[in-house]
Amino acid sequence: MVQFNWVFLDLETTGLQPERDKIIEIAALSMDENGEKQIFHHLLNPEVPLPPHITRLTGITGEMIRTAPTMADIKKDLLEFLGQKVIVAHNAAFDLGFLEKALGFPLPNLYIDTVELAKLLLPHTPSYSLRNLVRTYQLNQEPAHRALPDTRALEKLFYALTDTLKKLPIYALQEICSFLQDNPQGLSWYLQEILKDQIRHYDFTQQLETACVEENEKSSTAKNKRAFQWSVKALEEMFLPGGYIAGQLLNYQTRTPQIQMLKAVAKVLEQERHLLVEAGTGVGKSLAYLVPALAWAVSQGEKIVVATHTIALQEQLARGEIKFLEKVLPFHFSAAVLKGRNNYLCLHKWREFKEAVHGLSWPEKLLMSRISLWLRENGTGDRDSINLRGWEKEFFQQVSSVKDICLGSNCPFIGECFYQRAKQKALEADLIIVNHSLLLSDLKLGEALLPKYQYLVVDEAHHLEEEATKQFTETFSLYALQKRIGALLKKDNYRKFGLFSFIQSLLTKEVQDLGHIQNRLADAQHLAENINMQIHDILCVLEENPSLELSRVQEGVKHAAWWETLNILFANLRSNIVGLLRELQSLYDYIAAELDYATWEIPLRHLKAHINESVVEAQVIENFFAAGGEEKVYWFERDNALKDLRLHITPIKVAQQLYDHLFISKTGTVLTSATLTVDGSFAFLIEQLGLPEELVDTLQIPSPFYYDEQSLLLVDSSLPDPGKTSEELYSLAIQEALLKILLVTGGRTLVLFTSYKQLRLMFDVLHDPLQQAGLELFADGINGSRSLLVEELKVNPQAVVFGANAFWEGIDLPGAALTSVIMVKLPFAPPNLPLVEARVEALTHEGKDGFYGYSLPQAVLRFRQGYGRLIRTVEDWGVIVVLDNRIVKKRYGKKFINSLPQQKYYAGDTGFVVEQVRKWFKTSGG
Ligand code: SF4
Repeated sequence: MVQFNWVFLDLETTGLQPERDKIIEIAALSMDENGEKQIFHHLLNPEVPLPPHITRLTGITGEMIRTAPTMADIKKDLLEFLGQKVIVAHNAAFDLGFLEKALGFPLPNLYIDTVELAKLLLPHTPSYSLRNLVRTYQLNQEPAHRALPDTRALEKLFYALTDTLKKLPIYALQEICSFLQDNPQGLSWYLQEILKDQIRHYDFTQQLETACVEENEKSSTAKNKRAFQWSVKALEEMFLPGGYIAGQLLNYQTRTPQIQMLKAVAKVLEQERHLLVEAGTGVGKSLAYLVPALAWAVSQGEKIVVATHTIALQEQLARGEIKFLEKVLPFHFSAAVLKGRNNYLCLHKWREFKEAVHGLSWPEKLLMSRISLWLRENGTGDRDSINLRGWEKEFFQQVSSVKDICLGSNCPFIGECFYQRAKQKALEADLIIVNHSLLLSDLKLGEALLPKYQYLVVDEAHHLEEEATKQFTETFSLYALQKRIGALLKKDNYRKFGLFSFIQSLLTKEVQDLGHIQNRLADAQHLAENINMQIHDILCVLEENPSLELSRVQEGVKHAAWWETLNILFANLRSNIVGLLRELQSLYDYIAAELDYATWEIPLRHLKAHINESVVEAQVIENFFAAGGEEKVYWFERDNALKDLRLHITPIKVAQQLYDHLFISKTGTVLTSATLTVDGSFAFLIEQLGLPEELVDTLQIPSPFYYDEQSLLLVDSSLPDPGKTSEELYSLAIQEALLKILLVTGGRTLVLFTSYKQLRLMFDVLHDPLQQAGLELFADGINGSRSLLVEELKVNPQAVVFGANAFWEGIDLPGAALTSVIMVKLPFAPPNLPLVEARVEALTHEGKDGFYGYSLPQAVLRFRQGYGRLIRTVEDWGVIVVLDNRIVKKRYGKKFINSLPQQKYYAGDTGFVVEQVRKWFKTSGG
């Protein structure tokens, strides 16, 4: 291996903007010609005030830098130290931007950015922060927001990444080198060097042998399995001591509730029933439904679909329980994960992009290289196995599979197509794992997406109604229309032109009636440009009415002046969409009838896709502005970040659709979750989901945990009622109580909010006092994403995490990683949300109580989810504090308490709560 002359560099600064902020610390590490480590390290006087948050972050104080040298003082030594070496930095653009600004000229050195290198090599890592990467590689050098230790961490990380790089197959390296070769970046050069080195040392026999061993292992496992004769008793025995399942799980204790659930699921399969089964945390519900489902599928030759709420849960089930069962069950089965088609990369589009790679920007080329390596490593083409952020997601969409433009059997990649392979695997599988969204799209489209099946298990079934509501909602998006029109008119994209220019480029003099097609194109182009102008006019109206955020269309709204204006603008927009649609259809008909299909297939498919989308857009706009009828709610939503206005038409109830599409047509359905009941009753869910009462069984299986012993439930009853207090006073009271309670719960505490606004407010006011007390405060969307903050709780005993919506469920932190959960407010949905308001109203019209019939049960289910974050195993312990006194002061509060598995709770003022927490941690905790 060639030896390179590296210098590892890191800076600390007064802020993030090189134009405005200054360097306060610099460290660089290098090796001299004798292999001795050389260090260049200085605190620098920035000659501007040091912001307090930088002192908090780095520990560098004004005192420390007051007498330090300035950049001018160290400039000469620094340049000498850097010499001609290759600079390695983490997020190099940041460090070099500051350095070059401070020096006053660009540095001639080649540089390598370890963020770029890590993104390339570790496509699925949740975060590319130095801290997370150091942990991923277990490098034993924790970064500290100080230049010198961070430079040491950087050096170790770079060598670890290089080791990973060297393990890449030659053909993979060759492809990414071909993508990146034209760029004078240090990374391109380094990859070329590694490639040359790999070619010199390649062992051509090694890969073949590995492949053979893996293949033999696979086939021998399959051969040893027997067929399964359906027997509930045999399934039960698998969970008894020494059974196939119990015998393979460390410390497994036979759980009567788990066997109870297994038997109930088996009954559904045998007797063609529907079952709602609430299985408390710790029952082991996944195995309790998977084992009978798989046994039934294999023994009866039936296909079973399991639907989880999210794609992440699909993955969790496939990688966890399914892998485990593949090893331990005495019979062979096949399971497949299937997602919506746009989750998969389209190889045909990918080839088009590869051919045009030279026209892409450096970040796009890097992303192409990442995708290329990921495709080779992952083999599923499934975007959830690569970590994409922001624009990267949009880029992926350009290479993902789309129904209307898929070439189907004419595609040269049909044999390797990721989506087709996933579908084929699902077709052959005994059990298919889908998500709620795909399940419901399939039902909506007349079962066109999934293979035929008669048995269904829906996990996290408390989300089914919400997902069905989404699926049956019709939506028009101004932003999506703008993007679509852009794709027609674009003059410069990866192919160098949009659809109109593409069609133009295919026209030759030989095309008969060239004038006709060109006139159609010109008219279509004119209409598309009109649409763009009308979108602009609508955006202007929005700008003039900044208060329009989320509104339900009701009689009152229809008399507002802005509504009248929007109505006229949308009528014009719709008429242009219809005009464009006619021109596109005319173009399509002419090309399809007169021109060579092989040459024109791709533009024809794109035209068809635009035609289909135009039809839907025109229809939704028409329906929306004709708003009427009591069964649907019409509402619009504004997204300022995207400059979008969305028009939604949502059914107030989806029970009938679910009844028609699902329950009446499937032979057996199991709906399960840890939270299906409200105060012990399934009535709310049965009504919401339209379950046929005569065919549905219900079963509530309590958790085997000892909640009254394992956790302490406290209510701070001294806080004001949020509904009856001004926002300011309420926030002040919460702030004081939270601080006092957090000081005794300490780290490993999760605080659940119902609004981001309040979360941000509390973060701002509590960050400093908590830090002074030695705690580290993290908040969703402020200093980390959900997955990173969950990681933080696992590894950092001082971590306090503030989370909103997504944190109320799905977080599984067993053991000491989470010892306190604080729920700030009871999680009622805001009553003025269009759908909530419409549903409450609908119940009132039916003579029912909207609050008790809808808002309350919804809030109770969510509350139970939040509560469930704390105790995950029989050994967990901790404290739950509710800061909303309505739970003890209002009549309906009992519904919340009675729905919990814990009946003992204590209420008192903040001082009482603090004292109880203190006592609990002293006597019970740990
Ligand atoms: S079959 Fe369709 S989705 Fe698959 S690679 Fe070909 S064009 Fe893409």
